[in-house]
Amino acid sequence: MSELLDAVRAGADAATLASLPIPATTRAVVVRRSEMDMFAGLPSNEKDPRLSLHVDEVPVPELAPDEVYLAVMASSINFNTVWTSIFEPLPTFGFLDRLGKESVWGARHAQDYHVVGSDASGVVVRVGSAVRKWKVGDVVTVHCNYVDDQDPSAHDDSMLADNQRIWGFETNFGGLANISVVKANQLMPKPAHLSWEEAAVNALCNSTSYRMLMSRNGAPVTEGQKVLIWGATGGIGSFAVQHVLNSGGVPIGVVSSADKAQILLDLGCENIIDRREKDYRFWKDAHTQDESEWRRLGKDIRALVGEDPDIVFEHPGRSTMGASVYVAKRGGTIVTCAATSGYMIEYDNRHLWMRLKTIRGSHFANYREAWDANRTLVDGRVVPPLSAVFTLDQTGEAAYQVHHNRHEGKIGVLCLAEREGLGITDHDLRAKVGEDRLRIFRQKGN
Ligand code: NAP
Repeated sequence: MSELLDAVRAGADAATLASLPIPATTRAVVVRRSEMDMFAGLPSNEKDPRLSLHVDEVPVPELAPDEVYLAVMASSINFNTVWTSIFEPLPTFGFLDRLGKESVWGARHAQDYHVVGSDASGVVVRVGSAVRKWKVGDVVTVHCNYVDDQDPSAHDDSMLADNQRIWGFETNFGGLANISVVKANQLMPKPAHLSWEEAAVNALCNSTSYRMLMSRNGAPVTEGQKVLIWGATGGIGSFAVQHVLNSGGVPIGVVSSADKAQILLDLGCENIIDRREKDYRFWKDAHTQDESEWRRLGKDIRALVGEDPDIVFEHPGRSTMGASVYVAKRGGTIVTCAATSGYMIEYDNRHLWMRLKTIRGSHFANYREAWDANRTLVDGRVVPPLSAVFTLDQTGEAAYQVHHNRHEGKIGVLCLAEREGLGITDHDLRAKVGEDRLRIFRQKGN
């Protein structure tokens, strides 16, 4: 460990941090270019992140003028790290190589290793010469929208920019490291009542759900609207439930176990469907869907809330999209940001056009949306769905658990933080939010 990182851990002041040299290398979780064919021919569920994610010592790159070095206290596992680790749908080295051709600074990213991770909480330890609003010593969280501000389309909705990227997935130097490189316009204030690991698990999933359900760029929920949420205790689903409840909507949460149903009840979501118990068979075989099963889901929803959902929060993709399009209300919206079970989607278009429904694509969030989503955490209105905490060395195991749906909510990863529970500075707000509420997702024994 370097003098600088020791000082960060000890809570040193900004002047001390600024006086200590940036180490030449850092520990970081990487996939290696030399291994990108290691799972060739295997089915997805046999591709094992524990074999492809390594903790290596890698060089700290030079800092561009609009960037900061972040001493990362904690990070999290997102599904994009699972995709990177199993090299699906494509190895991410192609993204890095394309970025490498864009500019002198972009060239730093095209390496034979990819430092992954798209969330972080930590301390700013150096700022580039063009950084105005942040300084050494600032305590921050990071959102993952990596935008080139010289693209005109980035100035309306930055998610529309041609070269918009996800940091730590489509760029190098992500958050699962001791030192990360972050553009200044990715930084947001860390919620003061949260620990490092609680603060690190939110930005990617919370911002994504916020755009999908709160922003005019998604399908904004209004009071009383019914919202069907697949994977309601998963990464994005657990934030979706909270945003719908906070805005006066009525979530119908779909989960796959009694433990997850209990989490929903604890969050205040009363309308719950256990998809495993119901044993929906939307697909009769690999090529044929069963409309009577879609209808059965629709009846179950009506039995709970008395009507069809105004909005369906969709992300499982191939296995559920036919059902999602079917059950949405006449004139309703299916808002989708993913396709975990397969991206070649099939639905009955008659149900879409005859009933005037809309399918809305959504992807992460622009800076404004990410900042507004962060505010819901800073104010304590949304709680982090942290269920378990791993160390940087255990990242492969953590990604394996997410890959196999063995987790709830989010898994946090301690980077520089020596143990859980550190970094809390607003104890009054923490008490107001309540320890019980902050621990709703914690697995037994954690
Ligand atoms: P997650 O934590 O694994 O949660 C997803 C949940 O979906 C699971 O817990 C599971 O819940 C449910 N699910 C999985 N497969 C399903 C199936 N075949 N049918 C019905 N439900 C299923 O993952 P996440 O972080 O929420 O991410 C979900 C997806 O969104 C991933 O593909 C991820 O890459 C994507 N994503 C996209 C963006 C974006 O910006 N575009 C941002 C974040 C995430 P139950 O078993 O309890 O039902």
